[in-house]
Amino acid sequence: MPMRTASVVLDIQTQSLDSLYTYVVPDELTGVQVGCAVLVEFGARRAIGYIMEVIEHDEADVAPESFAKLKPLLQVLSASYFDEDGAALIQFIAHEYVAPLSSCVHLLTPVGRAPKVVKRGDVWELQKPARRRKKHVAEPEPPLDEDIAEAAEAREAFDLTDGQAKAIEVIQGCIDRCAGEVAVIDGVTGSGKTEVYLRAIRHALELGRGAIVLVPEIALTPQTVSRFEDRFGDTVAVMHSRMTGAERYDQWEAVRIGRKRVVVGARSALFCPMPSLGLVVIDEEHESTYKQESAPRYHARDVAAWMAQRTGAALVLGSATPSIETLCRTKVDDSWHRVSLPARANGKPMPDVRILDMAREFGHGSRSMFAKELQNQLFAATDAGHKAVLLLNQRGFANFLLCRECGYVPECDTCSVSLTYHEVGRKLVCHHCGKETTAPVTCPVCGSPYLKKFGAGTQRVEMELRRLLREHCEASGATMPRIVRMDSDTTSTRDAHEKLLAEFGAPGAAVLLGTQMIAKGLDFDEVVLVGVINADTQLRLPDFRSAERTFDLVEQVAGRAGRGKLDGLVLVQTYMHDATAIRAAAAYDRGRFLRDELPKRKMLGYPPYARLANILVWGADEAEVRTEAMKLSERVNETIVDIMGPGWQNLGAAPCAIDKLRGQHRWHILIKAPAGSDISKLAEPVIRKRKANKKVNVAVDVDPYSLL
Ligand code: ADP
Ligand code: ZN
Ligand code: ZN
Repeated sequence: MPMRTASVVLDIQTQSLDSLYTYVVPDELTGVQVGCAVLVEFGARRAIGYIMEVIEHDEADVAPESFAKLKPLLQVLSASYFDEDGAALIQFIAHEYVAPLSSCVHLLTPVGRAPKVVKRGDVWELQKPARRRKKHVAEPEPPLDEDIAEAAEAREAFDLTDGQAKAIEVIQGCIDRCAGEVAVIDGVTGSGKTEVYLRAIRHALELGRGAIVLVPEIALTPQTVSRFEDRFGDTVAVMHSRMTGAERYDQWEAVRIGRKRVVVGARSALFCPMPSLGLVVIDEEHESTYKQESAPRYHARDVAAWMAQRTGAALVLGSATPSIETLCRTKVDDSWHRVSLPARANGKPMPDVRILDMAREFGHGSRSMFAKELQNQLFAATDAGHKAVLLLNQRGFANFLLCRECGYVPECDTCSVSLTYHEVGRKLVCHHCGKETTAPVTCPVCGSPYLKKFGAGTQRVEMELRRLLREHCEASGATMPRIVRMDSDTTSTRDAHEKLLAEFGAPGAAVLLGTQMIAKGLDFDEVVLVGVINADTQLRLPDFRSAERTFDLVEQVAGRAGRGKLDGLVLVQTYMHDATAIRAAAAYDRGRFLRDELPKRKMLGYPPYARLANILVWGADEAEVRTEAMKLSERVNETIVDIMGPGWQNLGAAPCAIDKLRGQHRWHILIKAPAGSDISKLAEPVIRKRKANKKVNVAVDVDPYSLL
């Protein structure tokens, strides 16, 4: 019999053990496969491992001594959770995002089902998850993919728009060629992108291939899910973080055995074990929720593109506001196709967007957070029994200074980001380069003394809104409309989101006041007015994507108005009424926005013209954190000089914009590399060579989405 060994990832969360270990596969051990959980000995302890590779060695070639030191696998603990493609995916993510291998393995194991070993006194004890009691209902045999496709086709109701037809043609080509191509569906809100996804999935099923659809967590409502279920019935599996471990496992297992062929889920659903995957759809691909903010800090879009390349599946990226990275990729990569859907499927025009200059309102003596025109339109809409949506842009709790008269916000000269205001010492700090100045007392541009520290909460806005509407109703005799507030406070329970939306959607006048979460997926015909209370807060964040996010937000939220028979109006309040991001969004003119934004990104060396890696350093002791950050930064410099070419740059260690979070002091080191380069080649050795330090944590964020 030939000798076999297995490469194993140990399920132990210690940086020093983060590589593959080799064990001998005993001849009598059965069921040893890539993707199995196994029990192994490691030093004096027992540990769980996951098999990444099984290697057969020819006895003639290998001296028995070379195996003498290797320990044997003790026990096989599970069926295979992933195959060779999965093992390659784990290795890819671990390298690309400089993440611990064990954290990457767990992307592919079912939540809460993986075995564990725990120490009881002196012995290591194996804990297998309890077997789930089998339900005694006989599950129906899954119908063939082709039958599901046929039934779905019968449910396809309307004629496609030209844009939709073109989009489907392109996607079908991608599916048929099995070359891992990408189709970017660049379609305005209401252009019928979902119908395109549905028909693309039907095509994949016709060929016997499964599909995974990712939507932002917040958009994963019963309304969204039912659009897929209405078309494909029982074969739809749903996966999101509000489900229990057991619920998620049931779905995971049903996918694995081929009973569910269409998955609709949040980011992590990308890793479900779909046999013969033919299509991945990422809806609202520009959304930052596709970036995971804990290890492994992967981006679902970029991982999906890698999976498509490896397996030949087609990738569809849909959005009304595709990310700049995606748009630029379609220009330079022949395997990325862009299709535009410029009009709403029902033929309705996009609503008018008007910009309200709040600095002017202030100049005219108004101290209200609602401009006169917004007040009047709000009264008109609710008096007529219609609905209105008000968005309070709350991203960014970093404070900044704002001149209430001219809208000036202090910025860093070298980094082109807003400076963060620190109450202690009245300092302005750049969180990219660390430069500090004293906060001015009067506006350096117009001399006004009204320099305000910014940030208003939804509760305060709700109070003022109530007062305004009550005064109006008392004076005019109109009935008070319902006010529904939707923010992280009011939506913390499991079904809160649903209930609030139902309350807003019920017949009669209503105003929905909420944070970013209301910008997506909200589809009510009676919404005639959308108001953005503060369009510019994001623009002031110390983040190079702030203009792009502002443009996206205004465009997305505008799409909520005038979807039905009634015309819509969008009012955007801002202190920066001539900011290009806001002007261009109001005119639905992306070209204008990009002509302004791209040269800036290029000049300052930001994506898509460069890659970034952000090394985060945090801990309870500020001095230790600073020292460690400085040390790492020095090592980054050495590595850049020694092995990297031109175009690599270390911006140096600096405190994070949010420099203290839950008692932890935070520093970071921002690295720039040429576009398309393997930035992990720099970050990985720096991190892996670092001596473990219990007091300070270090993590790398490759292609970071938040630099706060
Ligand atoms: P998007 O996802 O691009 O915002 P949706 O898929 O939600 O757009 O479509 C918006 C509305 O238009 C939905 O009510 C949908 O049923 C309808 N719709 C989609 N395609 C067509 C079509 N070809 N003809 C008529 N109505 C359509
Ligand atoms: Zn000023
Ligand atoms: Zn700076």
